[in-house]
Amino acid sequence: MTKYVYAFYEGNKEMKTLLGGKGANLAEMTKIGLPVPPGFTVTTQACNQYYEDGKQIHESIIKEIFENLKNLEEKIAKKFGDEKNPLLVSVRSGAVFSMPGMMDTILNLGLNDQTVIGMAKATENERFAYDSYRRFIQMFGDVVLEIPKYKFDHILEKEKQINHAELDTELTTQNLKNIIEEYKKLVKKESRKDFPQDPKEQLLMAIQAVFSSWNNPRAIVYRELNDIPNHLGTAVNVQSMVFGNMGDTSGTGVAFTRNPATGEKKLFGEFLMNAQGEDVVAGIRTPQPIAQLENTMPKVYKQFADVANLLENHYKDMQDIEFTIEKGKLFMLQTRNGKRTATAAINVAVDMVNEKIIDKETAILRIEPNQLDQLLHPTFEEKAMKEATKITKGLPASPGAATGKIYFNAQDVVNAANEGEKVILVRLETSPEDIEGMVAAQGILTARGGMTSHAAVVARGMGKCCVAGCGELRVDETKKVFKVGDKIFKEGDYISLDGNTGNVYEGSIQTQDPELSGNFGTLMNWADEMRKLKIRTNADTPKDAAVAVKFGAEGIGLCRTEHMFFEEERIPAVRKMILSKTVEERVAALDKLLPFQKNDFAGIFKEMGERSVTIRLLDPPLHEFLPHHDEDIKALSKQIEISYEQLKETVEELKELNPMLGHRGCRLSITYPEICEMQTKAIIMAAIEVKKEKNIDIEPEIMVPLIGSEKELEIIKDLIIKTANEVMDEMDEKLKFKVGTMIEVPRAAVTADEIAKHAEFFSFGTNDLTQMTYGFSRDDAGKFIPEYRKKEIFEKDPFQRLDQVGVGKLMKMAVELGKSQREDIKLGICGEHGGDPDSIEFCHKIGLHYVSCSPYRVPIARLAAARAAVQNK
Ligand code: PEP
Ligand code: MG
Repeated sequence: MTKYVYAFYEGNKEMKTLLGGKGANLAEMTKIGLPVPPGFTVTTQACNQYYEDGKQIHESIIKEIFENLKNLEEKIAKKFGDEKNPLLVSVRSGAVFSMPGMMDTILNLGLNDQTVIGMAKATENERFAYDSYRRFIQMFGDVVLEIPKYKFDHILEKEKQINHAELDTELTTQNLKNIIEEYKKLVKKESRKDFPQDPKEQLLMAIQAVFSSWNNPRAIVYRELNDIPNHLGTAVNVQSMVFGNMGDTSGTGVAFTRNPATGEKKLFGEFLMNAQGEDVVAGIRTPQPIAQLENTMPKVYKQFADVANLLENHYKDMQDIEFTIEKGKLFMLQTRNGKRTATAAINVAVDMVNEKIIDKETAILRIEPNQLDQLLHPTFEEKAMKEATKITKGLPASPGAATGKIYFNAQDVVNAANEGEKVILVRLETSPEDIEGMVAAQGILTARGGMTSHAAVVARGMGKCCVAGCGELRVDETKKVFKVGDKIFKEGDYISLDGNTGNVYEGSIQTQDPELSGNFGTLMNWADEMRKLKIRTNADTPKDAAVAVKFGAEGIGLCRTEHMFFEEERIPAVRKMILSKTVEERVAALDKLLPFQKNDFAGIFKEMGERSVTIRLLDPPLHEFLPHHDEDIKALSKQIEISYEQLKETVEELKELNPMLGHRGCRLSITYPEICEMQTKAIIMAAIEVKKEKNIDIEPEIMVPLIGSEKELEIIKDLIIKTANEVMDEMDEKLKFKVGTMIEVPRAAVTADEIAKHAEFFSFGTNDLTQMTYGFSRDDAGKFIPEYRKKEIFEKDPFQRLDQVGVGKLMKMAVELGKSQREDIKLGICGEHGGDPDSIEFCHKIGLHYVSCSPYRVPIARLAAARAAVQNK
């Protein structure tokens, strides 16, 4: 029979899938003898069962829950619902992957009109008991009964006003009792039922609410953003309460064993004395730095520091720990591998190798390749900083630099970002509702909250610049303004944020690319030692090529030549070529383009030195180079002295119904061989020129796009070789070069053995291969793919992550057929998937020699290739 509930002492850290991250780690801490308040975990399987049973908790699961509750009562000698010595519990969600702020927590469950009296007596602290009850009704009302939180806040504020109380702590027991009465009335009015007094009913309702919150919109957005599958479900942890709000020797806090922003090996975190549970994380009161605890409670601090050290060594990773101190006694409430910025991830991984805690391969596996993206983002230009006017300073919650127009709610941010604006989200404090705004914003600024507030945690996870807890900021979210002193900033005004210092500046400040060295370099060197795949880049200009080389590119896998045709001084000649009526006219126009193309290629060869360079012959349909609006056609007709009517007719003629499947790719070289000749000439001439000038070996790779049949390639290859030989004869020079093709038409994949007769290399153009395998137009798929993802037909957009089942099968087939014909055929990929870590792993597995991606993704690809090698040994 399936077991749906586990006591903490029955589990361990390996049971994450079943117990969720939080549950598995509570079990592990219990196992190794740390002071964890006892409790039990209702499994993720129970959550899935709940959905299978039509949102009902099954009888047998309820039975297991209450059996475990009974054991818990015996263990700590308190009883659920007891009027003298009541057991109170917390109920928290715990998914397999941590989802900060996405799911809900309930504290003090078990309180009712009777147990609150018992608790007051047992603790000899009436005020504390009623304050706990007040908080419980509010939390339960908000999370379980879905009564808007502000309605509870309103009651609390009113009572404070009547009694001239500034702070919650100034409220008397009687005031709290009044509030509780009002809360209960509110509950009755809103839910049409009395506040549940039976603790067992409270418990089941709370567990059910956690299960339901797995599918609340915020959780769904978070999962989508972080590629967390929907079917995992969440576990629920029921744990006996300890109280951080029992006076001056009690408190609560969160701490990381190392600094999650920089990786520095030093306890980093915050605590609040006389506070409960979520007070620290929610950012409602500003907490004190953890180091301060050493002065406040030296013994507890020492004990905590020892536990932190023990946990880090036990898990062999940086830990993010939650703790509570109840009357001077320390309790551990959670530990998990800490979320960290890319900088911290790299520094911690490299430091831990040096400290002999982990080996190099583990270090490589610790860093998510996509996380490196954060490091490749810009910082402020030093020069521009000199003129910058600082307005205020907050906490440096998440590093980076951001400039943009300010907006005060998530929706406005999303709207402005959709209009192409760079935007900063400014909030009093963020909550999970703001997540979409946070995704769309360049940076986030909050007036409240500490380094572990929602804004800070989520922004760090996203690699987004965030300045939090900016105390001088007077934010009015309704009027959409903020004030600092007497300066007013309105919606749409520019500000700039420095996430490394916490500084906030007026206006927009120029940003610059980062330098990558130190531990980043060390880690990249380790990755390079481990990986089997070479990493090339897709670059069309010497500038892009230089950036890619700086990031470690070992060659160019795709140089798209069409971008060169669009430049202003060339476009007239390109258009003349397209509009030519005779071969002679076309050759004359192409002759004008030749020197430009030769210089383009020479620039790239110079930048790349002896590294491989693959240049692709012209690919897009010709009409893309012609104007389509009447005014533009008129202007062009004057410029090139062709009548408007004649020009318009040609433009119409060249228009295609399905241009992606039309007159493009190698079909251009078949119909207009002169284009292929000109491009070949330019490549060979440039290579010879640079080879001589720099005295280096250059062996260009000429790539033919969109081949579907052997014959196409045979004809074009002959033409390339003939043209290249003529150039070499003319220049009286020799040059080695290769001719190969892209595999981007399904027919090419399934006849790859035939095609390999004429191709020295294959490069998979998985953009077109995906388009043609699915029959989805690349330009139109964006309209329906989101719906496909929602309906779970696709887990991910197949244009971003390779469809390994279908498109991947074609690739595998092409690799095998290609090799059967030509053993040493060179194999690579140059579609967008060449920069996607999962797709890179697939390329490793099917035995490609290289992947090619955009310059900024080169370090990501280097790391992903190393991880693929380690994971598939
Ligand atoms: C491809 O199709 O994958 C490719 C790289 O070519 P393009 O994107 O230029 O069509
Ligand atoms: Mg293509």
